[in-house]
Amino acid sequence: MHIGCPKEIKPQEFRVGLTPSAAAEAISHGHTVTVETMAGAGAGFTDADYTAAGASIAATAEDVFAAADMIVKVKEPQPAERAMLREGQLLFTYLHLAPDPEQTRELLASGCTAIAYETVTDAQGGLPLLAPMSEVAGRLAPQVGAWTLQKANGGRGVLMGGVPGVGPAKVLVIGGGVVGTHAARIASGMGADVTVLDRSLPRLRYLDDVFSRDFRNGYATGARTAELVAEADMVIGAVLIPGAAAPKLVSRDQLSTMKPGAAIVDVAIDQGGCFETSRATTHADPIYEVDGIMHYCVANMPGAVARTSTIALGNATLPFLLALADKGWRRACEEDPHLLNGLNVHAGQLTYFAVGKALGIDV
Ligand code: NAD
Repeated sequence: MHIGCPKEIKPQEFRVGLTPSAAAEAISHGHTVTVETMAGAGAGFTDADYTAAGASIAATAEDVFAAADMIVKVKEPQPAERAMLREGQLLFTYLHLAPDPEQTRELLASGCTAIAYETVTDAQGGLPLLAPMSEVAGRLAPQVGAWTLQKANGGRGVLMGGVPGVGPAKVLVIGGGVVGTHAARIASGMGADVTVLDRSLPRLRYLDDVFSRDFRNGYATGARTAELVAEADMVIGAVLIPGAAAPKLVSRDQLSTMKPGAAIVDVAIDQGGCFETSRATTHADPIYEVDGIMHYCVANMPGAVARTSTIALGNATLPFLLALADKGWRRACEEDPHLLNGLNVHAGQLTYFAVGKALGIDV
């Protein structure tokens, strides 16, 4: 199969859909790979890295789309990219179609077959192509929170680990799923005093079994949450209710109970955020203040560490990419129901129920 990887064109997107080592593996399976020039630059991969892996470099995205049977990307195709997709072509990338009727319409019109990273599943009921980005955002959260806490950034001027004779920062993580667990591990590793709250008893049991030496856990009642919010130097929002907007767990009134200069890192901002005062920000201008509390609410946190994120995403997509290329999408999906769950669009037909329901299109 001919696999094509264009340069991402969505603003502020520095990741790339195919790493040189993934390209080399696909080539070792007998496939051909074409990568747009400079596609990997934002993630620190040069054209020479891809050439050394055996890939060809194309001068333009048009050349990549014209040559490839399968297009591998990171972000949903932008209008100019959608115009280049053709009937029978396979698209493998994040799509997030439910809130995006225009993209859905154009993908249907193109006649392509589109497999969305975010709806591929695994045997444990997880989302294996979303998890790596949650791991990145979770591990990044205490790092950006620590920076936000610095005095020059408007923060409280508290060091995460304290020093001998001075206590560490108190960090509260609300939501102990993938983001929350990784955030708590890193905050704890930085020496902070960390508590994780969740509403799932199985999840609390897991956190207790595995991490009870590293951080405390607790059940997220409203009262317990309010008490710990008031004591915290940093609160990390990491809740998710699948398919729904994030619940607002901290009101504006509660900010007045917090320590002046405390930091909020609302990782759940991509689902609307779990603090009443959260609004999405960008890497260019990531923090703002409300009632003396510093907020960091960047909606695409993994973009800050594009190289790590690209490699992490590539590690997760590679087995599916190879199955699609080796067997063709139809047999690969027939043999793997989890990959089949990724199928959102085929030959002008919407094939993913939740997207159809959200957009009022027959599936
Ligand atoms: P997850 O499903 O692994 O974990 C969510 C956890 O929240 C679960 O353990 C659940 O029990 C818990 N929860 C739900 N309601 C709760 C409540 N009321 N109180 C306490 N806990 C509650 O999800 P995840 O992968 O960790 O993702 C968390 C959020 O981070 C999502 O909104 C996701 O979209 C977002 N995210 C954002 C970025 C970014 O760049 N900003 C990157 C990756 C993920």
